[in-house]
Amino acid sequence: MPQLKSLLSAAFIALASLSTIAIADTVTVYSARNEQLLKPLLDRYSKETGTEIRLMTANEGALLARLNAEGASTPADVLITVDAGNLWLAAQQGQLRALNSPILQKNIPAHLRDPDNQWFGLSVRARTIVYSKSQPKWKGKLCLRTSKKVYNQSLIAMMITEIGEAKTEEIVRGWVANLATTPFPDDTSLLKAIAAGQCQVGIVNTYYLGRLLVKEPDFPVGLFWANQSGSGTHVNVSGAGITKHAKNPAGAQKLIEYLSMEAAQAFYVDEDLEFAANPKVKPNSIIKEWGSFKPNLLNVAKAGELQATATKLMDRAGYK
Ligand code: FE
Repeated sequence: MPQLKSLLSAAFIALASLSTIAIADTVTVYSARNEQLLKPLLDRYSKETGTEIRLMTANEGALLARLNAEGASTPADVLITVDAGNLWLAAQQGQLRALNSPILQKNIPAHLRDPDNQWFGLSVRARTIVYSKSQPKWKGKLCLRTSKKVYNQSLIAMMITEIGEAKTEEIVRGWVANLATTPFPDDTSLLKAIAAGQCQVGIVNTYYLGRLLVKEPDFPVGLFWANQSGSGTHVNVSGAGITKHAKNPAGAQKLIEYLSMEAAQAFYVDEDLEFAANPKVKPNSIIKEWGSFKPNLLNVAKAGELQATATKLMDRAGYK
């Protein structure tokens, strides 16, 4: 039975090469994203491709410090983190490498990725104005999250890019003068303070309001799209890049490409209530209620470049 024999040997070769792939195909991910927001997506990828993902989560500062300390011996292939400011910093510290992928070029718009292709936005978060639906008197009724949070540093950095330092400082001083209370550690407590009447207006990433609305559809906080007659609402990204010392750069690239495709992008939209970076994927229905908005199209890398300038400005203006 020469036919059967050759069939068997072909099958054997196929199996042997499969197991070689399986051994080689482990991708180690360092992620600053909340594990519950990322893990299901990575599990789905493993199931579909047979690639084993080793996931290490920590906050972005700890991850960057770890990459720096580990140097060439790092097990990390992919870095995933929130905020273009953090991605920019990782690239600036030499922790990422250029990723030349026609798939990512096609799926992710130019303003949501590094001009040098070292990182790509995978989800979009809009930071805009929220207000009390019951008490629309805002003088002295502003709530802010702490200026220590990178989201606010990036927002201010983008404002400096757009309208200059002097005008931005004037605006931030206005915010400080109108604060109802000391800045909050996170956006969710700020939103709850508005709902409780402690303040009437604030600035948050929209997905935090979305998540509260999922639990409580009548949550009494409205959303206003900032700057629609100007350059558009401030947007930022969560994103990923391949580490400089990746042991499996090909596997890392495949994973990041997968995250940019429609099925994975739908997860960011439906589970995280962020916006997709890939324009083919439309917002979740909860988000649709806020109406469509014009996003600012400045390259988000600017958030990193002017981070230090932004921090100094907030400090000068008394924004704690
Ligand atoms: Fe967040």
